[in-house]
Amino acid sequence: MHELREEELNSLRSQADIADVVGHYLSLVKKGKALSAVCPFHDDHDPSLNINTERQIYKCFVCGAGGNVFTFVRDYEKISFREAVAKVADMVGFKLSVDYAAPAIAIDPAIQRLYNVLKDSIQYTNYTLNSVQASEAKSYLKNRGIGDATIEKFAIGYNPENDELTRFLKAKGHVVEDLVKANVTRINEYGERDVFAGRITFPIHDPQGRPVGFSARTLQKDLAKYVNTAETPVYTKGKLLFNYHRARTFARQAGEMLIVEGVTDVFAFDRAGVYNVLATLGTACTKDQIRLLRQLGEKAVLCYDGDNAGQNATYKIGSLLLEAGFKLEIIPNTMGLDPDELCQKHGAEALAAFSRRRISWLDFLIEYRLKSVDLDNYSQKKEFVKVMMAEIDKVNDRFDREMLIQKISILTKLTNEQMSLLSPRKSDQNATPIQRKYGSAPSRLSKLDWAEKEILGQMLSGRSAALLFRDELGFLPQPLNNACAMTILDYYRNHNEIVLADFINTIAESEVVQLITDISNSEIYYKEYNEAALRDALTLCKTSMLDQQIERLKLESKQTDDIALRQNMAKRLEELRNEKLRLKQKTKEDLHGST
Ligand SMILES: [Zn+2]
Repeated sequence: MHELREEELNSLRSQADIADVVGHYLSLVKKGKALSAVCPFHDDHDPSLNINTERQIYKCFVCGAGGNVFTFVRDYEKISFREAVAKVADMVGFKLSVDYAAPAIAIDPAIQRLYNVLKDSIQYTNYTLNSVQASEAKSYLKNRGIGDATIEKFAIGYNPENDELTRFLKAKGHVVEDLVKANVTRINEYGERDVFAGRITFPIHDPQGRPVGFSARTLQKDLAKYVNTAETPVYTKGKLLFNYHRARTFARQAGEMLIVEGVTDVFAFDRAGVYNVLATLGTACTKDQIRLLRQLGEKAVLCYDGDNAGQNATYKIGSLLLEAGFKLEIIPNTMGLDPDELCQKHGAEALAAFSRRRISWLDFLIEYRLKSVDLDNYSQKKEFVKVMMAEIDKVNDRFDREMLIQKISILTKLTNEQMSLLSPRKSDQNATPIQRKYGSAPSRLSKLDWAEKEILGQMLSGRSAALLFRDELGFLPQPLNNACAMTILDYYRNHNEIVLADFINTIAESEVVQLITDISNSEIYYKEYNEAALRDALTLCKTSMLDQQIERLKLESKQTDDIALRQNMAKRLEELRNEKLRLKQKTKEDLHGST
């Protein structure tokens, strides 16, 4: 097989836009002009993968992954470079002069044999579903509303009794060792037996759409309802989601993904025309599964059963997704039917309508917690409020917070003040959006904080200090202190001096008022104009800001492979260091000048 000419490869590359190719796999987020995505190459929660459409490359600022359209497809799909070239050519409709689609270097042949075993198993079981011995299975599916279209689409099948599958696969030339490795056959004292004998089979695929195993349901009452493939070289329970490879495109288009409990729920939604649906295959969500989900977008809708197990699962998985930065909605299930049963009883239309009803995560939490709480019991009520206040504390939207607090206040007949005593962050309990935005300064900043307060104190006591600050520095590193400085500067535009009591009337933000009153109450900070002390404080702020910039730049330059960018950064770093040096010398001169 000969290779593609370089010109042809480049021509294909220029026709495949990096944003289109990455966007084929990941949902892209627009940040101003820049495009980014959640990085598939490390455990990413924020979109760290930068897509540079100008230079046609991608770059992750966290794990360092980077390259062009081909390396992206290669690394994402875990295929060879040639296969990736073929895929990209396919995507843009480019006709390659060489057939690259056939893998030149096959993935590990031992692994490929397992895929082949599973492919043939799916074909055989799917075929057998139409035989006489599968009549019970077929009528079971029919009763559950699973018709021929669904059976074909999901390649649902029946694994006959009497180890027929094993015999079929051996006749097809597979070796027993591979059958056992793929977990379709097991060997016990009676010999080689089908693992899923007498069960309806639902094939499971990996994110690349390769067959890796089965979820299999029995028709007998005394056996475990569902059995899944055991861990094999191609089937890792926590790394798979049922229907992922089919739901991927739909989830990205819809801007949300529906997460359900079982495979039959996926079928039910499919009948209702809802295709962005995945099932967690009975496991609690693992890190790997969350990573896969995050590649589909940031909004997840949970739709579990209405029973206790289902609600507990909703709570568990919801908490994990929330922690991973997902936006969450819950489909409230009060009917005691799972989506599959709902579809059977009320039809596909009703299920589609059901899937559009949503409540917020916190509304779900209130209901969920209330189930196990007796509000007439004092300590239970107290614990309930405590837990809910902690949850509410995580909510960013102030309106949402107020609504929730009011809701709980009505439920518990407690006042807002009483409830706030149970809030986890007492100092922050009445936090307004501004406090949340500014936060409180960590203690390691105390020296800097001291300098900033010194500046503010002097600005409050006289106009000259404010003007020197404006000319020499212009802003303060810490946000709340800076907001305070800006308020003071603004005031001096129309006033020659500050009369605190009057000044306070003109300030809208209560945090700024609080800070100003703190400082003006303090003997340390609030004092007469002292130029030397003020210049000291200004220099300290400047140095600290330079240090921060230098640190940031050093880090960024370490993480980039771009030589031109790195050179620019080095130049800027040099400038910053010189500036810092000048600042140091100037301070020395000032000191000598004053002595
Ligand atoms: Zn990364």
